[in-house]
Amino acid sequence: MEPLAILVLLSLPISSAYPLHGAVSKDHPSMEFAQQYLEKYYNFEKNVEQVFRRKNSSPVVKKIQEMQKFLGLEMTGKLDSSTMDVMLKPRCGVPDVGGFTTFPGSPKWRKNHLTYRIVDYTPDLPKESVDSAIEKALKVWEEVTPLTFSRLSEGEADIMISFAVGEHGDFYPFDGPGQSLAHAYPPGPGFYGDAHFDDDEKWTLGPSGTNLFLVAAHELGHSLGLFHSSNKGALMYPVYRFSTNPTQFRLSQDDIDGIQSLYGPRPSPDTIVVPLSSVAPRPETPAKCDPALSFDAVSTLRGELLLFKDRYFWRRSRWNSEPEVHLISAFWPSLPSYLDAAYEAHSKDSVFIFKGSQFWAVRGNEVQAGYPKSIHSLGFPPSVRKIDAAVSDKQKKKTYFFVEDKYWRFNEKRNLMDKGFPRLIKDDFPGVKSQVDAVLQAFGFFYFFHGSSQFEFDPNARTVTHTLKSNSWLMC
Ligand SMILES: [Zn+2]
Ligand SMILES: [Zn+2]
Repeated sequence: MEPLAILVLLSLPISSAYPLHGAVSKDHPSMEFAQQYLEKYYNFEKNVEQVFRRKNSSPVVKKIQEMQKFLGLEMTGKLDSSTMDVMLKPRCGVPDVGGFTTFPGSPKWRKNHLTYRIVDYTPDLPKESVDSAIEKALKVWEEVTPLTFSRLSEGEADIMISFAVGEHGDFYPFDGPGQSLAHAYPPGPGFYGDAHFDDDEKWTLGPSGTNLFLVAAHELGHSLGLFHSSNKGALMYPVYRFSTNPTQFRLSQDDIDGIQSLYGPRPSPDTIVVPLSSVAPRPETPAKCDPALSFDAVSTLRGELLLFKDRYFWRRSRWNSEPEVHLISAFWPSLPSYLDAAYEAHSKDSVFIFKGSQFWAVRGNEVQAGYPKSIHSLGFPPSVRKIDAAVSDKQKKKTYFFVEDKYWRFNEKRNLMDKGFPRLIKDDFPGVKSQVDAVLQAFGFFYFFHGSSQFEFDPNARTVTHTLKSNSWLMC
């Protein structure tokens, strides 16, 4: 049956408002429908007949208001006709609140290159049309993130795509034509990341029936870690609508902001790198024992040492004598390459990463939300465009920022720049050259990196005690 016909049939009995005062008749078809809707998409608890009888502030009124707020409707708390109209529209099967996820926080893929597989097809469309609709739907997300996708024809892919009817092996059976069109799971192993399409819909490429590209683009947003948006213009709004011609489809800023908060923007062409994965060949790395090797930035991270160079960093832990080399993007997909400075603020369990006028906070392999921020938010004057190097004194909880021949001192406890700065590097760190590449604090010394040389500075004696090669940390 055509979904449109279903809509017309269901729309008939609900042209008037149903205030939820007094006992609610379970015999009333639209009431039961509304209750199921709230259970399915708004975490409404079953068996609440007693509370249905209470007036005004009953949980069901609150639930209806919550739903109305999310869907951008007037918060009447009643099942008025405009509310019922929206509830009867076909939509995504993923709840608007509570979510499917068992993961706390925002689940996301820990890699930028993902695989997908179309496990089975709908009889509604030729195979090639399904393939190209899915490919186009993935492109929507690929265009605004560092993510790339490749298709597998067999085996286990990150995102398994299938068409199914009714009960299909998870706890979310499909419901026949109309209503729930598809659902998808957030990133993770096993069934996580997978997208299921209700094959009781009539899948099409155009405005009639259910447009596969539009629904797939939405579902794959879930597969990448997005939840529903209450922004009506967003692709991630839960209710299906065919508003634009798919050939002219563009993501809303709301969708772009959402996905970029997880993965960052698409890198500019010169920084696109071969993704690190088990199948990709190991990218060419700078030679760690090249006597001319210099570093962009150096930091500690939870007892390990990180030395950044171009698109890479070396990671040296006390448990592994051989330093590992990684692409920066493999650990922190949203971070840029060719960094300026990095330091660990132990009291915040964070490493702050600087490039140009921006900085990011990372905790382990998570880039913190709300970044990048402007370096000027730390108290630098507008004339400072970039930081050369930074280091935090673990005991004193003071961070030193080096910019050309000057340095600033930042109070990590008060989150304020100390008064009386900048000062000249040569006045307080005699023997250290200006234009510092990177600084590290270790064993009670500061190690200043300048090209291929490194100066060990004793802060108590205020003197350079040793000159070393910069790559002495890499067991060369
Ligand atoms: Zn959805
Ligand atoms: Zn399913």
